[in-house]
Amino acid sequence: MSHADQHIDGREQLISELKAHVEMEQWFGADVCRSAEEASTPARSRPVAGAAAGHPGEDAEKRQELEELRLAIEECHRCPLGETRNKFVFGEGRADARLMFVGEAPGREEDRQGRPFVGRAGELLTRMIKAMTLERGDVFIGNILKCRPPENRTPTLAEMAVCLPYIMQQIRIIQPEIVCALGATALKGLLRDPRASISRMRGKFIHWEGLKLMPTYHPAYLLRSPGEKRKSWEDVQRIMAELDLPLPKKK
Ligand code: URA
Repeated sequence: MSHADQHIDGREQLISELKAHVEMEQWFGADVCRSAEEASTPARSRPVAGAAAGHPGEDAEKRQELEELRLAIEECHRCPLGETRNKFVFGEGRADARLMFVGEAPGREEDRQGRPFVGRAGELLTRMIKAMTLERGDVFIGNILKCRPPENRTPTLAEMAVCLPYIMQQIRIIQPEIVCALGATALKGLLRDPRASISRMRGKFIHWEGLKLMPTYHPAYLLRSPGEKRKSWEDVQRIMAELDLPLPKKK
């Protein structure tokens, strides 16, 4: 290859990297400022906190099963967090979602509202979902723990062991094609492996429980380390490809 050809190759590479970066910034950057509460779900499918909330066209049997599960567990006192929580955070979204996000545990705002991912990390998760050309109401969002640990401390293994059957029951009812584990605690919890490492395992599908598990960074980590958003966007694009979702057209 001549020197001139190499130069053109290098330039094309740079242009394509820049394009990918702009795309990531455009769809997953800091340009959406509405709060998670406003931006969370379209009016047509906005769930009422804590109440049965159906989504248009969803599987009625799965909705019924989810609501029965909610009723069975929402007064849970199987661990001490049952005493300190304000609200039990069951999770929300379509009962037959193809994609489920699983985070760590409710934070202050989630505990106040009884809804998952409605604080600052939730805003970023909402942006991630929109970047996937979806709305929050198209997916299901839950957590390993249903109750807030005091001061948002990391859940203990004992708390995770007690609460894990709940998210597993939700996964069995919803039967998503993909579960996206947000952060180390979600990954360790779902795999029941305290040595699971998000930095080593993120970005690769794991065949797990008859579905595909995609580990990626927790949005709260991305808020602290925005330089890692690019990797996260790559993970999100892998999920989009698996679900046959089109990459959004640029404005
Ligand atoms: N972080 C989580 O892991 N879950 C939430 O619901 C909110 C913040």
